[in-house]
Amino acid sequence: MIVSFVQDQEEVSPVPGLTPEEAKTAWRNAAHPALQNKLKDLAWMALHEVLPVRAVMHSRGMARDPICPRPGCGHPETVRHVLWECSVAKDLWATTGPLKCPSLPAGEVRHVSYRLAVSGVGRGANTIPAADFAALWLTLNSVKAALWTSRNLLVGMRVTVPLPALRRLVTSTRQEAPGVANRRRGPRPHAGGSGPPRLLAPADAPPTTSREGAAGEGGDLR
Ligand SMILES: [Zn+2]
Repeated sequence: MIVSFVQDQEEVSPVPGLTPEEAKTAWRNAAHPALQNKLKDLAWMALHEVLPVRAVMHSRGMARDPICPRPGCGHPETVRHVLWECSVAKDLWATTGPLKCPSLPAGEVRHVSYRLAVSGVGRGANTIPAADFAALWLTLNSVKAALWTSRNLLVGMRVTVPLPALRRLVTSTRQEAPGVANRRRGPRPHAGGSGPPRLLAPADAPPTTSREGAAGEGGDLR
């Protein structure tokens, strides 16, 4: 209650593209209790657009050029570029979206936009049960963290992380918060049904479904 009271008294930093009320929700989401501290830090910096990417560093005279370090990319490395637009980000989000986590109620959050990924504000996100939003928000932030780690390995160690390893990283980050990631409520996914693609396997799924096509990586992204 005290924290809520203090938050309500504070001036809300505006977020481009969000109403003041949405911005308030976005800042609360950045400090969501479902997130580990490292994810909170990343969410906060992404929302503020102050991650030390080259475009940001260049604008402050701390980088020689603003261009993305990915070989052959050539675009300015903005926060949005790293987390959404660069080819690696597109590939990872493509295997994550349209996000259809089996722990979420069907038909609520089908489409992941950059706005939803960064702020947690989007159609359906604010009307689903709190525990379902926590699972969704943890997943979105685990994807962002994997992309940021991948970028830093490239810059610092000249290591290119392949997509399957990035997907495993997302899964392992989610599993650091098992109480949030392993939702037991909600409908079971259909095995090979005609519904929307199942992208996140529940860690508590029966063996018959958790093994299909996953090469033993139960709980991994599909
Ligand atoms: Zn790039």
